[in-house]
Amino acid sequence: MLQIYNTLSRTKEVFRPLQEGHVGMYVCGPTVYGDAHLGHARPAITFDLLYRYLTYLGYKVRYVRNITDVGHLEHDADEGEDKIAKKARLEQLEPMEVVQYYTNRYHRDMQALNVLPPSIEPHASGHIIEQIAFVQKILDHGYAYVSNGSVYMDVEKFAKDFPYGKLSGRNLQDIVTETRELDGQDEKKHSYDFALWKKAAPEHIMHWPSPWSEGFPGWHMECSAMGTKYLGEQFDIHGGGMDLMFPHHEAEIAQSCAALGHDTVHYWMHNNMITINGKKMGKSYNNFITLEQFFRGEHELLSKPFSPMTIRFFILQAHYRSTVDFSSEALEAAEKGLQRMQEAYARLLKIQPSAASDQQSAELASTLRQRCQEAMDDDLSSQLVISELFESARTINTIWDGKGTISEADLRELRETWKTFAIDILGLELEGNDAGNEKQTAAYKGAVDLLLQMRLEAKQAKDWTTSDRIRNQLTALGFQIKDQKDGFEWTL
Ligand code: ZN
Repeated sequence: MLQIYNTLSRTKEVFRPLQEGHVGMYVCGPTVYGDAHLGHARPAITFDLLYRYLTYLGYKVRYVRNITDVGHLEHDADEGEDKIAKKARLEQLEPMEVVQYYTNRYHRDMQALNVLPPSIEPHASGHIIEQIAFVQKILDHGYAYVSNGSVYMDVEKFAKDFPYGKLSGRNLQDIVTETRELDGQDEKKHSYDFALWKKAAPEHIMHWPSPWSEGFPGWHMECSAMGTKYLGEQFDIHGGGMDLMFPHHEAEIAQSCAALGHDTVHYWMHNNMITINGKKMGKSYNNFITLEQFFRGEHELLSKPFSPMTIRFFILQAHYRSTVDFSSEALEAAEKGLQRMQEAYARLLKIQPSAASDQQSAELASTLRQRCQEAMDDDLSSQLVISELFESARTINTIWDGKGTISEADLRELRETWKTFAIDILGLELEGNDAGNEKQTAAYKGAVDLLLQMRLEAKQAKDWTTSDRIRNQLTALGFQIKDQKDGFEWTL
């Protein structure tokens, strides 16, 4: 039975969906004002792993991952400039051009990492009406107030009726000391009150009409509005990076309780952070390495390019709740590990079965699937699945070396288990292995041979137009063709 660690209860809980056979899952997606970096890859891969595993377990999953394209301000507070508006101003673009450009690039990077697209990918800017309705509900219930055209959450009032800070384990006093004094504090009753709706300053280029002002929603509001719109007033899983726990997710809980009178989320899941050479990723360290830079090897901290699959494998080698420290050496080790897996899988596909399995093979075939499943059931322990597969590679290599035997049924079971766990659930592309390459090479050689055979036949039929055309085209593509007495030879 699948157990997942619920950040809210701080324990591993047996996963029981609200509706039998169905799972609703919401994950906070990117703010699209720049290229995706390693910090974006981790939540995307973590919740892709969960999505794939739930699907394997037979659930029908509705996976919502949003695009934040309005309201995420610099400094992550209520003041400051919208990140997308700022980019649009600097580059003289429409904000939606910025959004589309980086959304496309995000999709490209996610596809390279073999991250499956979510079922629904709603944009915050496309759900302004829902957000206004959500703010209105909070106002109607008396947990928010209007001040100078903006609407703020009345945190003190809310905290009298509901626990505030329960997700991140904070109390109001902690939050008071943590909250920095920023401009516009005079609009709020308390520094910890957060914006549900902001009146737009005259220079602000993204704004919509509302009952309170021409303005835009607070960042936290989009996830409350879109989560409940697509998954209902109560849904199973809400995920995101640990850095979103406070204030973002804490604020979401408060908004939902204030508007609906109850929590919306059953299981809160958070992936841990990635450090780079022991340091947090941050502007001050200049160590935001984009995924594209990884794929091309274009950053001073990288020794060489690293393939998307190496990045994926590197992230899955750690449990999602552990920290991961990135370094070029660690990635080189992950690259070797992935190659070992690809080699083992290629051998597994090529091994010939014997009449019977020896003891080692029989034992492996009868236990591997269960052990991989137990690892996944234990709070998505992808790192344990990987070590089970590595362990099984030893037996595969023994058979490959002719020192072991495996029956046809056991071989089929092992192949299926590898396919299920390595390819379908971990999402690793193992087909780019030498078995795949050999197949491709054979197909390509066959195609060139076929063309030259057709040229030979054309020549014999004195069809010089066709024979010259084939020769000239192949030569233009870089092939060298040598005619021989009764055939041909070619090289590239
Ligand atoms: Zn969110």
